[in-house]
Amino acid sequence: MTAQQKLYEGKAKILYTTDDPDILLTYFKDDATAFNAQKRGSIQGKGAVNCAISSHLFRQLEAKGIPTHFIDQPGTNEMRVRTVKILPLEVVVRNIAAGSLCKQTGLALGTPISPPLVEFYYKNDDLGDPLLTRDRLLLMRLATAEQVEQLQSMALRINEILIDFFQHCGITLVDFKLEFGLDAEQKIILADEISPDTCRLWDQSETDPARRVMDKDRFRQDLGEVESAYQRVMQRVLANPVSL
Ligand code: UDP
Repeated sequence: MTAQQKLYEGKAKILYTTDDPDILLTYFKDDATAFNAQKRGSIQGKGAVNCAISSHLFRQLEAKGIPTHFIDQPGTNEMRVRTVKILPLEVVVRNIAAGSLCKQTGLALGTPISPPLVEFYYKNDDLGDPLLTRDRLLLMRLATAEQVEQLQSMALRINEILIDFFQHCGITLVDFKLEFGLDAEQKIILADEISPDTCRLWDQSETDPARRVMDKDRFRQDLGEVESAYQRVMQRVLANPVSL
């Protein structure tokens, strides 16, 4: 199976068609952006690291019964995925207050959130990915009421599985972003990636707020040692086998 045409180039990945219309090839790039692409840079080796982490986490989620677009990882930066129609939504799950939640609510960084919060954002760069209410989401016909319920319950189940997995890695899952797609039968399938670009991950062996950060906040906030933090996440994730 070889990559054919470039279908789409995003900020962190390139999507290629293959000789099978049901299968696409994702290439993970080293490019990094933040703040709606106002900050740009490159994190050396990030593509390979995020591809390996995402592949492992998708395998883990599949083993636990979550349908994902993941097929296999044919190369260090390459993932074969099932073709889906991506819903223009970013589904964010939060276990601990950080980032935009702190900015918008005044909650202190590190405040535990129980039960976890599920939020929907409109994936639209021109509008700055705004936070949506459920009613706005329905008004805009971005999903049906039934799909919203399903997205919410899938996101919470994925959260449980990932919290548990990262716990074995000595990592606290603070928050993360998911994207979903619809397959040919209109079934909802987890898509995109799950990596230090899309999750906030805190090292449980560090108490210092700057040292514990193992994710893209190191890039966003110029904390340094970005590459090594991503590498450490990968080492710990890959050291924990996929379990049924
Ligand atoms: N996130 C993401 N892509 C986005 C926006 C957010 O992957 O376009 C992730 C982010 O890395 C974090 C979570 O979603 O793990 C919540 O992000 P938040 O809303 O706090 O926004 P931020 O502080 O990143 O602007």
